[in-house]
Amino acid sequence: MRVGVVGGGQLGRMLGLAGVPLGLDFVFLDPSPEAPAAAVGEHIAAAFDDDAAIAGLAGGCDVLTFEFENVDVDSLVAAAGGTPVFPPPGALATAQDRRSEKEAFEAAGIPVAPWRTVDSREELEAASRDIGLPLIVKTRRLGYDGKGQRRVLADADIPAAWQALGGVPLLAERLVDFDREVSVIGSRGADGALACYPLTENVHRDGILHTSRAPAADAPLQLLAEDHLRALVERLDYRGTIAVEFFVAGGRLLGNEFAPRVHNSGHWTIEGAACSQFENHLRAICGLPAGACRTRGHAGMLNLIGAMPAADGVLAVADAHLHDYGKSPRPGRKLGHVTVVADTPAERDRRLGDLQALAAAGTETRSL
Ligand code: AMP
Repeated sequence: MRVGVVGGGQLGRMLGLAGVPLGLDFVFLDPSPEAPAAAVGEHIAAAFDDDAAIAGLAGGCDVLTFEFENVDVDSLVAAAGGTPVFPPPGALATAQDRRSEKEAFEAAGIPVAPWRTVDSREELEAASRDIGLPLIVKTRRLGYDGKGQRRVLADADIPAAWQALGGVPLLAERLVDFDREVSVIGSRGADGALACYPLTENVHRDGILHTSRAPAADAPLQLLAEDHLRALVERLDYRGTIAVEFFVAGGRLLGNEFAPRVHNSGHWTIEGAACSQFENHLRAICGLPAGACRTRGHAGMLNLIGAMPAADGVLAVADAHLHDYGKSPRPGRKLGHVTVVADTPAERDRRLGDLQALAAAGTETRSL
């Protein structure tokens, strides 16, 4: 089968790396001449709003998927013609607007922090009164990696938040005093069966994922997360891999956002699970049986942001696996990641600590 992928970043590249052994061929559409996925398939260099190019991509493929979320859904559907698109475009549209995303969580019975849409400074003031401070204000569309967000801790912060974000549709929500952040990743096949990975605990720095650790939950929390995910995918009539990010607060899970695609917090599944999130996504969209989500020990993942550490140092850490996306360095850019697997959580954390030290040293060397 030939798989067309809208987006040719690292997620596309890892989809290709997982799919080639299954006998799949790949075509990626991405405007960048340096698209990381070009290493594992054909590359169509075209803009994401180039409908003719998307139609050409779809016409030459058996199934279309996406690893980039900011595409116009109506144009994508029209350009796809008769080629099936998975995950379903409706799920992508729901995730593109924080309002419909929250409504989908609520309709699936998933608790969320109190929220309001905000379209004027007066509405922001009203939201602060209704929901109570502290708040976090987010752009409804096109936000990622913590971009397009401001915290409102006191009334005095409202003018600056409005000044920074106002003019586009916003959403204000209660700032959650969470114990930790976790994500659940699952893959739903053509038969509707859901394969779920163990919960992943995530640490963000400056709004960007820094480290992930899995498995990260006791049985009751795992079951609760799986119930939430199942309710959501059934409502979305979902097919493919999906990630839901939660805040854990006092034993409860509050839905924050979902990604209708493979997710950074699931990169550990490449070496840390029997079948990775990437392979399971492909199996699901190609109508193949799901692979097992069981873990192979305790996994940790460190994102390499802004600079790459020396490969020889990273690979000298026991059971460390380096993923270099082949991107040119830029501050704040995800250039690669390292996964480490160990027999115990303590050993995993020790190795992750060694890798963090190496990554920090690499950053210092390159910024000299
Ligand atoms: P998001 O783009 O919504 O995933 O937000 C990026 C990060 O900001 C999250 O992973 C959290 O660390 C933090 N954050 C977002 N919303 C909230 C909230 N309501 N309460 C506390 N922290 C938040």
